Amino acid sequence: GTQGALLSTRLAIPKIATGDLLRAAARDGTPLGRKAKTYMEQGLLVPDEIIMGLIEEVVTSPGARNGVIMDGFPRTVPQAVAVDRLLAAGGRRVDHVLLIDVPEEELVRRMLGRAAQEGRSDDTPETIRQRLVVFREQTEPLIAHYRAQGIVTAIPGTGTVREIADRIAASLGR
Ligand code: AMP
Repeated sequence: GTQGALLSTRLAIPKIATGDLLRAAARDGTPLGRKAKTYMEQGLLVPDEIIMGLIEEVVTSPGARNGVIMDGFPRTVPQAVAVDRLLAAGGRRVDHVLLIDVPEEELVRRMLGRAAQEGRSDDTPETIRQRLVVFREQTEPLIAHYRAQGIVTAIPGTGTVREIADRIAASLGR
């Protein structure tokens, strides 16, 4: 999320974060938001159909014509396959996948720090543990999916925010 926002400014293309869209819908109390909230509060993934509805709307919007930075999406292989198909229909594709590699203890430390600052209800120790399990089971297989397309760049996610941002920019030739 942090690096996506910096990159969005640097490249002047919008960032879409499915987590932010879901939290806004939950705050507004829409039917979609109420449904999503029950999953989010347990550290589980929201069903793919809900997510793909959100993504389709954003990706096909005029603001996305020069591209988008996707944060927190895709999280499952079916989401990746669906977005590949959606983009291909418009003659587009996923160009780059940035794999920001952070040791697990450090991730937990950062999430607990964020909980203190932002008060995200899914940043409790139990939910964080569950989210890491979900990551390993449902999201990690995406690395192989995108490696097969030759578009993955691994970035060490340790160091300062600035150092990581510079590594990302360099990997994209910016
Ligand atoms: P995030 O803000 O990206 O950490 O997402 C917070 C929560 O929103 C996740 O733990 C999931 O419950 C849900 N979520 C966000 N993005 C997705 C996605 N692409 N697929 C499924 N669930 C998602």
